[in-house]
Amino acid sequence: MPDKQMLTPAIFLDRDGTLIEEVNFLSRVEDLRIFPFTKAALQKLSGAGFLLFVVTNQSGIGRGLFTSDDMHNIHEALRTEFGGLISGFYYCPHLPDAGCDCRKPKTGLIERAAKEHAIDLQHSWFVGDKDLDIYTGSKAHMRTCLVSTGYGAQHKESLDIAPTLIVENIAEAAQEIVALKGI
Ligand SMILES: [Mg+2]
Ligand SMILES: [Zn+2]
Repeated sequence: MPDKQMLTPAIFLDRDGTLIEEVNFLSRVEDLRIFPFTKAALQKLSGAGFLLFVVTNQSGIGRGLFTSDDMHNIHEALRTEFGGLISGFYYCPHLPDAGCDCRKPKTGLIERAAKEHAIDLQHSWFVGDKDLDIYTGSKAHMRTCLVSTGYGAQHKESLDIAPTLIVENIAEAAQEIVALKGI
């Protein structure tokens, strides 16, 4: 284990419905709609000292609806739009019943990112629009934030675990998380 002082806190961000508009099985860059407030929110979080990672289930690959290249094109477009703000894109390409350890709400992708980037999970957050995002963050012992964009408005009614925060969108998430930093 690296020295605790050397670890950096991170924000793990769901992609669809959190950073961008929810499109069922988004596969084409032409259909990508980034929320107008996302970039400023990422700048705020990054400026406060958090590393930023996208953690996304992309079972459309396992279903044969699109290829991993299609997905990488979308992530390239996000990288271009957000500059160097995102330190890594982690995705699960598997079918929901594949039994992999990386599909949210499993924590395989978080563990991989934490190891590759020396993350301080205890001071990190998971931000997403679905119940499984909240369960993933909670299982990885992080604080959690549900946004009301995407499926958020629906999912906040049926959560089994209360998130640390429920907010309107990623902009409010960034504001609240930065205000709580160090607490
Ligand atoms: Mg989502
Ligand atoms: Zn997987």
